[in-house]
Amino acid sequence: DLTVNDDLATLLDWAKDEARLGVYANADTPKDFAQALNFGADGIGLARTEHMFFKPERLLEMRRLIIAEDAEGRKTPLKRLLEMQRGDFYELYKLSKGRSVTIRLLDPPLHEFLPHDEKEIKAVAAQLEIDPDYLAQRVDALKELNPMLGHRGDRLAVTFPDIYQMQIQAIMGAALQLLDEGIIIEPHIMIPLTDSKAEMSWVRDLVVNQIEDLFDAHNAKLEYTVGTMMEMPRACLTADKVAEVSDFFSFGTNDLTQLTFGYSRDDVGSFMPAYIKEGILPADPFQTVDVEGVGALMKMAVDKGRFTKPQLPIGVCGEIGGDPKSIHFFEAIGVTYVSCSPFRVPVARLAAAQAHLSAKRPIEQAAGMKAH
Ligand code: PEP
Ligand code: MG
Repeated sequence: DLTVNDDLATLLDWAKDEARLGVYANADTPKDFAQALNFGADGIGLARTEHMFFKPERLLEMRRLIIAEDAEGRKTPLKRLLEMQRGDFYELYKLSKGRSVTIRLLDPPLHEFLPHDEKEIKAVAAQLEIDPDYLAQRVDALKELNPMLGHRGDRLAVTFPDIYQMQIQAIMGAALQLLDEGIIIEPHIMIPLTDSKAEMSWVRDLVVNQIEDLFDAHNAKLEYTVGTMMEMPRACLTADKVAEVSDFFSFGTNDLTQLTFGYSRDDVGSFMPAYIKEGILPADPFQTVDVEGVGALMKMAVDKGRFTKPQLPIGVCGEIGGDPKSIHFFEAIGVTYVSCSPFRVPVARLAAAQAHLSAKRPIEQAAGMKAH
């Protein structure tokens, strides 16, 4: 584990005082969150809950859930997953000590949960104690040619509503457990891949109804927010409408860049270096914001969102959330905070301060004030 020495800690404190942008971390384990806090993160801007199912025993439960056919069959894995997730969120909240934690509901490309070939199907069928032919049929039915454009994000809320309901029960259950211990948490729930007001509104209703049921059952209430990722071009184009049913936005620039350019975020190595060498691209747009295209779409979404809700909090949680050049651009278009991997937090913090200081210098000079 890395630690921050006193000089760097002082510098980061100064940077925090001078910055307008908040700097949060993308973290989904207590270890990463602790590291991020050590680097001075303001909290968690993105906890990717699908990462919580990488461990073999959890993957198995998720497979049991997706493959189980009838409502009765789904109850058992859901109950087990609920217990696991409640523990996950409890740990993160406990570590947060009052700092904000934003939890994103499941965003898997569904194929990551499916066995891939005959051998794996046999092995998983044995683990699940089900007929391999039946499993093969289910896998076939769920298979997609373009999973990244398919059954993922909040589309899962519509096809498997009980998975999102389970996660909501776990998030709010953990917060209510802490309330019993005298610790007040305000959960921030984030919906992935939203592309319209209609879709966000449908998912929001699912979330809010589940929360209200829980509050009734516990005879308790907590403040909470329900916001959306901004990672679909269509969501940016209609951001004024999406904002009507969102408490916050957070740009997912990995998907937004992929979908705006039509470049696969996982496969650019084959042509990107040639494009940069030939000067067709100034830089890799997954690493530094493409100001003219993706950036323009982001600015449009910020302006449209704030037209509907002037105080709308707007974050950036894609890979470029920690890139200094991009941070200058985010400062300029009025983003509220960035969220990046824990190890990028210190650099993001310094860049946020620089961006704010250089942005305000000309105004202060014009007013005859002392510039920093
Ligand atoms: C993104 O798309 O930028 C994002 C933050 O989400 P993920 O990388 O998990 O798709
Ligand atoms: Mg994404």
